[in-house]
Amino acid sequence: MRLKGKTALVTAAGQGIGRASALALAAEGAQVWATDVNPKLLDGYDGVEGVHAVQLDVLDKAAIGKVIASMPSLDILFNCAGFVHSGTVLQATDEEWNFALNLNVRAQFWAIQAALPRMLAAGRGSIINMASVCSSIKGLPNRFIYGMSKAAVLGLTKSVAADYVADGIRCNAICPGTVDTPSLADRINANADPEAARKAFIARQPMGRLAQAHEIAPLVVFLASDESVFVTGQAYAADGGITI
Ligand code: NAD
Repeated sequence: MRLKGKTALVTAAGQGIGRASALALAAEGAQVWATDVNPKLLDGYDGVEGVHAVQLDVLDKAAIGKVIASMPSLDILFNCAGFVHSGTVLQATDEEWNFALNLNVRAQFWAIQAALPRMLAAGRGSIINMASVCSSIKGLPNRFIYGMSKAAVLGLTKSVAADYVADGIRCNAICPGTVDTPSLADRINANADPEAARKAFIARQPMGRLAQAHEIAPLVVFLASDESVFVTGQAYAADGGITI
């Protein structure tokens, strides 16, 4: 039990990587506040030990503050919420730009701002931000807004890490390659030829396959745990070889 006695908040825990991570954190003994904007997706946590399922829209600053204030303590914050827009700079719209910055980046800023005072008071805390290899690490075609927003996550992560490195607070980002989650299925099915689209996603993975969400979750558990006590300000890729 690597996380016994620790309390975690996970955003976008209704499905995909957030859900796999919330389950993995709870399996290691953490008390996990598994949150999502979609309450139906939280039904899947019924009866899961150590998981408190709570509806939370991370676009709502006051709601973030409320949920964090309701927690008995807060050792681990996993900012997982994000959305993938497709398209080039010429196709991008102002609405998409604003939405991506608000969900993929500003929500992390708000959650960290709400969580940090409690972590500082306790003298410990691990913040994990969801980025992507598609960021400042790698440019991928048709991901203009997405790559921009995830690069911002890496800057945000390093800034927080630098400011609180001497206060027991660690802040790291994780950078998955392509993970087979419900929203990836949506992106694939939005293509005229979904089968060809899936093949193209697989082709950009040197391992020749997509990741499963539970293959990303161990990185979250590691960064949440004291095993990573000397690790901060880093961007951890789990990408099937995309960035070799
Ligand atoms: P997903 O996209 O399938 O699910 C996203 C979840 O976010 C849903 O449960 C949804 O209800 C929730 N959500 C949406 N808006 C929200 C809001 N305002 N407040 C709270 N929750 C909200 O899951 P995924 O594919 O695992 O993606 C999770 C994160 O991982 C995202 O930040 C994504 O950018 C990142 N990521 C995904 C991949 C991938 O290939 N799937 C790769 C790299 C990074």
